[in-house]
Amino acid sequence: MQSETNLKYPSVKIYLDLPIPDEDVASLENSQWCETNQKRFVHAAEIYGYGAYLMPKIVFAPPFTLVKSETTCLACRQTTPVVAVEAAGYVPLSSKGHDLALAIALFAQGELDNALPHPVFLTNVREYPPEFLKLIRMSSFLFRKYSLEEDNDDYFANACTHCKAPIDDFTLYYEQDGPLARCNPCPIRRSETKLQYSLPIVAECQFA
Ligand SMILES: [Zn+2]
Repeated sequence: MQSETNLKYPSVKIYLDLPIPDEDVASLENSQWCETNQKRFVHAAEIYGYGAYLMPKIVFAPPFTLVKSETTCLACRQTTPVVAVEAAGYVPLSSKGHDLALAIALFAQGELDNALPHPVFLTNVREYPPEFLKLIRMSSFLFRKYSLEEDNDDYFANACTHCKAPIDDFTLYYEQDGPLARCNPCPIRRSETKLQYSLPIVAECQFA
């Protein structure tokens, strides 16, 4: 096993998407439970051997920007502020199992420096490091996990400040007139704040 000193990002949290069976005692003992995400995780330095519990991930490169925008709530029809997280670059890791664990290990060694230098929004995010989520929630305390997709896991999303109805990422990022859709010629970016978080984020999610 690689020694931690060779790794650039040993402490990045990698969330395990599939449950570990009770009989795999070693994996259970070496991973930790995260109350915020309701998932177990290991640090990037310890990812070897956990491939079987991973779904495809995307690595996002810092710096991260909190973009404030607004949209019309579909429930109460009022205008509500929303927030979005924009990363400076990304690398999709679409392999599975051991190959995926290996890809994450390479990233932890510094391969992230090959990230596509292209700003993207994190969307349909299944897991955020709690310390990162805290930074988002300082601007929007309604930002939390909501059940928005049938047959799919909950993801972190905005909610209307008037009626508290959750706001689907699809309406913000993927609809033609979405306030933050890349195809929208007049996106709504009310303000941008650099977040004080210098580690990459590895998450099961999408991007826009
Ligand atoms: Zn509303």
